[in-house]
Amino acid sequence: MLTTNPFDDDTLHEECGVFAIYGHAEAAALTALGLHALQHRGQEAAGIAAFDGKTFNVQRALGHVGDNFSSQEVIGRLKGHAAIGHTRYATTGDVVLRNVQPLFAELSVGGFALAHNGNLTNNQKLRRRLVERGSIFQSTTDTEVVVHLIATSLNNTVVDRMIDALRQVEGAYSCVAMLDDAIIGVRDPNGVRPLCLGKLGDVYILASETCALDIIGADFVRDIEPGELVIIDKDGLHSRHPFPRAQRRFCIFEHIYFARPDSVVEGTSVYEARKHIGAELARESHVDADIVIPVPDSGVPAALGYANEAGIPFELGIIRNHYVGRTFIEPTDQIRHLGVRLKHNANRANIAGKRVILVDDSIVRGTTSVKIVAMMRAAGAREVHMRIASPPTTHSCFYGVNTPERNKLLAAQMDIEEMNDFIGSDSLAFVSIDGLYRAMGKRSRNTSDDQGYCDACFTGDYPISLTDHDNGSGATVSRLAESA
Ligand code: SF4
Repeated sequence: MLTTNPFDDDTLHEECGVFAIYGHAEAAALTALGLHALQHRGQEAAGIAAFDGKTFNVQRALGHVGDNFSSQEVIGRLKGHAAIGHTRYATTGDVVLRNVQPLFAELSVGGFALAHNGNLTNNQKLRRRLVERGSIFQSTTDTEVVVHLIATSLNNTVVDRMIDALRQVEGAYSCVAMLDDAIIGVRDPNGVRPLCLGKLGDVYILASETCALDIIGADFVRDIEPGELVIIDKDGLHSRHPFPRAQRRFCIFEHIYFARPDSVVEGTSVYEARKHIGAELARESHVDADIVIPVPDSGVPAALGYANEAGIPFELGIIRNHYVGRTFIEPTDQIRHLGVRLKHNANRANIAGKRVILVDDSIVRGTTSVKIVAMMRAAGAREVHMRIASPPTTHSCFYGVNTPERNKLLAAQMDIEEMNDFIGSDSLAFVSIDGLYRAMGKRSRNTSDDQGYCDACFTGDYPISLTDHDNGSGATVSRLAESA
C-alpha cells in the first residue's frame, strides 16, 4: 500500500509557492532554484514556463522540484529570458498533470502563462457561468477560471483583461503571470498570501518568500502590497493599484507554520515571530518542568522562545530522520501502526525520568500529538505537558491552505480538557489569540487595525466572502475545487 508520510498526515499543508523572473539568460535555471527553496509550500507537483522571444516553453511534472528540474536537459528545453514557476500542493487526493501550473493559454491577444497561490471562494459560481457561456475547462483547478475570465474579457490588453478578471474573483490570490513582453505579479486586495519583490543586479524577481531570493543571491526589495499589480518589462517595474482598497488580512498562519523560518514575510522574520509566540505561550501557561522539547521541525523556534522565557533547558528530545521519502511503502497494518517512528524518534537519554514540555505549532486532527505523547512516555518521561504555539484550530481555511473539514478538527469537537484526555498529556495549553497578536507586535486582537491578519481558522471570522460555501455547496471550495 502506498501512503503519504504518516507523520505528516496530521499537519496543515500550504498550497503553493510562486516565482517569476524577467531579463536573465538563465531564467529557467534560477526559477528552478527559487522553486526548490519554496518546496515546503507544495510538494505534489511543480512547473516552469519560459519565454524565449518567440515561443512559450512549458514543463510541468508531478513530484518534487529537484526530481524534475535539476537536469541540464530539462532546463535546456526551457529557453528564455523570462520565466515563471509554481510548486503545488493539491487539496484532493488525485494529483493529475492537467492541474499542475503554470497554466498556459494562447489568447487572442497573445500567449499567457499563470501561476497562483491561494484559493478563490467564488470559483464554483464563476465556473458555472463560464461553462454555461461555452467555456471548456481542461482542469479542475480554480486558477483556470481566471484564465477563462481573461480570455473572454473585452479589454484590449492582457493586463487590462487580467485586472478585469481579478475584479470578478473573490478569495485569496498571489499570482505571477508571463506575457510575451513582461511578467506580472499581483496580490489580492486583502493580501492574504505573501508575494515579495527582489533584485539580482538589474533583474527583477517575484517570489512567495524571501528564502527564494536568498538561494540565488538576490536582494529583497519590498513586499508587493495588498491589491497591487506590478508589471515588469524591458523598461523596468510599473506599479498599479487597480482594485478597491480593502483591509489588510495577511494569513497569520504563515508566521506560525507555513513560511520558512529563514524568510521575512510582511516585514517580520518568521523565526523571530515564532520565538515571540513561544515566549507568550510560556508567560501564559507556565508549568514546572525539567526540559522543553520541540516537535521538529516547525516547533523548534517556538520551543526556543518558550525555553528562554521559562528558564527551562531546551533539548532536542525528538530526532528527525531526514531521509524518509515523501511516500513510503508500508506492507502491513502492523507496520503502518509503527509509522510515526519512520520519521521521528525519541532521544531516550534526554527524556527518561524527566518532566517534559512538548512544544508544537498546532493541533489539527490530534493524531500526531497522541503518537508523540505516547512516544515520550515510552521513552520514560515522568510528565508530558503539551504546549501549542497557536490558538485551537476550530475552523477550516478557504483561502489556500488545505485544512480538514471542520468536523475533523479536534478543537472543533472538544474543549481543552477533552483534548488533553484524548492526547494523553498531563496538561495541554494553547497560546491565546491575544497572546498571538502580542507576539506579532499588536496589543491585542481587538486593537489590530488596517495592518491586521486573517485568523479565521482560530476565530471563524472570515474576512472574505465564502460565496461557494454559503451557497449551500458545503465544502466545495476545499473539497471539489482543487485550489492552487
Ligand atoms: Fe491563514 Fe487560517 Fe486565514 Fe486560512 S483561515 S488564511 S490558514 S489564518
